[in-house]
Amino acid sequence: MLMTRERRPATRTMRGWAIDVLQEAGAIRECEAHGWMQDRADPHARERAFDIARDDPPAGVSADAAAAEVHEVLNSIGDTCPECPPDLKDN
Ligand SMILES: [Zn+2]
Repeated sequence: MLMTRERRPATRTMRGWAIDVLQEAGAIRECEAHGWMQDRADPHARERAFDIARDDPPAGVSADAAAAEVHEVLNSIGDTCPECPPDLKDN
C-alpha cells in the first residue's frame, strides 16, 4: 500500500488538521476506493487522537479548542464509506 507521509503545515484549516491527527492516531481511515473518511470506532485510537491534539495543537490554538475540533470532526465522520456497497466491505 502506498503511504504518503505529509507534515502538517500551519496553514491548514482546523478541520484538515483534526483529520490529520485522527488519521495519525488510527481513529479514522480513508476508503481506498473512494477517499471518504471512515470512523474506525476504536476508543483507544480516539483517546490517542485527543492526546495528540492536546499535546500538539496548531499554532495559536489552545489544547481545549484543538481537542474540541477533533471531537467535532469525529462526530461528522460516518463509520462506513457512503459509496462502498454494503456487501463489499473489506475483509
Ligand atoms: Zn468506498
